[in-house]
Amino acid sequence: MSRFWSPVVHDLTPYVPGEQPKLANLVKLNTNENPYPPSPRVQASIHAELGQDADRLKLYPDPTGSQLKDAVGRHFGVPAEWVFVGNSSDEVLAHAFQALLKHDKPLLFPDITYSFYPVYCGLYGIDFETIALSEEFAIRVDDYLARGAANIGGVIFPNPNAPTGRLLSLDEIARLAAALPDAPIVVDEAYIDFGGLDVIPTAVTLVRQHPNILVTQTLSKSRSLAGLRVGFAIGQPELIEALTRVKDSFNSYPLDRLALVGASAAMDDEAWFQQTRRQVIASRNALSAGLAALGFEVLPSAANFVFARHPDRDAVALAAALRARSIIVRHFKAARIDQFLRITVGTEAQCELLLEALKEIVA
Ligand SMILES: *Cc1c(COP(=O)(O)O)cnc(C)c1O
Repeated sequence: MSRFWSPVVHDLTPYVPGEQPKLANLVKLNTNENPYPPSPRVQASIHAELGQDADRLKLYPDPTGSQLKDAVGRHFGVPAEWVFVGNSSDEVLAHAFQALLKHDKPLLFPDITYSFYPVYCGLYGIDFETIALSEEFAIRVDDYLARGAANIGGVIFPNPNAPTGRLLSLDEIARLAAALPDAPIVVDEAYIDFGGLDVIPTAVTLVRQHPNILVTQTLSKSRSLAGLRVGFAIGQPELIEALTRVKDSFNSYPLDRLALVGASAAMDDEAWFQQTRRQVIASRNALSAGLAALGFEVLPSAANFVFARHPDRDAVALAAALRARSIIVRHFKAARIDQFLRITVGTEAQCELLLEALKEIVA
């Protein structure tokens, strides 16, 4: 506390990100990074942008990020005018909270979800209500609609949800959006690229039909670029304009030159994307089966992590025992989920190490 702080800062409860340990040789399965490297085209494009002497860095980047908007538009088959790009999807989400989700009526989101949402509500003074997931940790659209359309300012949820990994069907998302035509619906698809093998069940396919749906995605997970900080949103131009107005009232150049070229190259490398996301999906399915064989209850995951609990081993003790073996996973001290561990899907070798360690620990 300080007398120099503004009142809003006094009242903030900031988000706490997963640990980024300085120690080498850890099996790091705690923050849902991709275990595989980004497309080699990313490095090549960044080298090309730097050139011989990094002379180009003296110039500001393109404030509109048009190269990246084009690449994202190509990937999804939508016009570039339907794309917003930002310095991480957390930043895009923050703009969405301020630009679209702040209304007199409360914003709704699940009781168990991405813990940044209540933080943004605190930062921007947004009234919110949480809606409990079912016993099976699923989002039930009817529980949202039961609040009455007249009492809902907006809805946001991750799909698949975090940290549960459970997927809500596109039919259910469309039903929610159709029933609340005056409320913006933000679908945070940080993990959607791990949600299907042949067809990725993205709500981008719903935005033509539903002018109130905004979809956000990140290059941090499925494109292996958590260190580059790039995210985007897709929606009809009316929604995109709201985000652009906030962005241009905050930072005109949120994406630097290296991020713009690197992210565009990653979006264009479809073969790399397909290969790495399929590898992660295969490892996730094997990891889920391996955990189940050790007696864990594992929620059905559509993400690059699994959420699991053991019926007679305490989650905090399990996490500590893993840590003693240099494996780190994430535990959340929250109601209903404090006996679960969230385990990021690593390489095949990392998943094997984890399963071997747990086999010893639960024996
Ligand atoms: C990782 C994550 C994000 C943030 O991604 P960045 O682009 O790295 O900021 C957003 N939403 C959810 C649910 C996430 O898990």
